[in-house]
Amino acid sequence: MKVFLNPGHTPQWQIDAGLDNDCGTYGNGLYENIIAAEVCELIAAESENFGIKIVDVYQSMNLKDITDVANSTDADIFVSVHCNGGSPSAKGAETFYCAGSVEGKKLAGYVQKNIVAELQMIDRGVKDDTQTQHSRIHVLRKSVMPAILIELGFLTNGDDAKKLRDNQIDFARAIVKGIAEYGGIIAENKKIGNYEKVAEKLKGANFNLERHTDAIKLMAILSGEECVNLLESACKNLGYPNLSYVDHSYFDGMLIHESLKILQKN
Ligand SMILES: [Zn+2]
Repeated sequence: MKVFLNPGHTPQWQIDAGLDNDCGTYGNGLYENIIAAEVCELIAAESENFGIKIVDVYQSMNLKDITDVANSTDADIFVSVHCNGGSPSAKGAETFYCAGSVEGKKLAGYVQKNIVAELQMIDRGVKDDTQTQHSRIHVLRKSVMPAILIELGFLTNGDDAKKLRDNQIDFARAIVKGIAEYGGIIAENKKIGNYEKVAEKLKGANFNLERHTDAIKLMAILSGEECVNLLESACKNLGYPNLSYVDHSYFDGMLIHESLKILQKN
């Protein structure tokens, strides 16, 4: 799965250089263009753990530029990240897709679901781009691949702004999980119902479950038994005799990556 990431609005360096002044929405001390860029960098960092490749993180004041660049890559999907603005009481996340795009709608659904669940955001839903005030969104219309535009939350709302300031990594992880689910890295037909069983087993292996809940949930696409076996094989591939020898900090990155490699081979 290859992803083209587009943080909304003008890059801050161009604003600083006086080339443009479109920072997007502003609220509660936060600028949309900066938050979007920060979240996209975190998405790029998190993606590696899930075998998702970010082909580019491209922010530009010129919408045509964005889609020209995106269409010149071999990205499978296009993801634009924005923040909303409105009255102080307006809050929540929403995700747009190009009206008529079946794949775009599906991708939007996975990403929206994960953002709402992870951040406890008000669910404003998945919407086609005729349901915006601009009625059509250029980056969704002109991208040749399935495309979504995420409005993470409202900078103008106190609760949302706090999350957008303090929980950017959680937004990034939710988006990556949504993309992973869309890409079938989590097999849709297998339930993530084995988490408790897996957690129980991994407790015996001294894992810090608090920190690794998301990663373990991802691994729990298999039965509890299979999951532990997979992790143990990954451990061995990495040169550890068993799970209890693995430094916890390796879990997110190398162990998940190795496990996914094994999964892909099978
Ligand atoms: Zn925006």
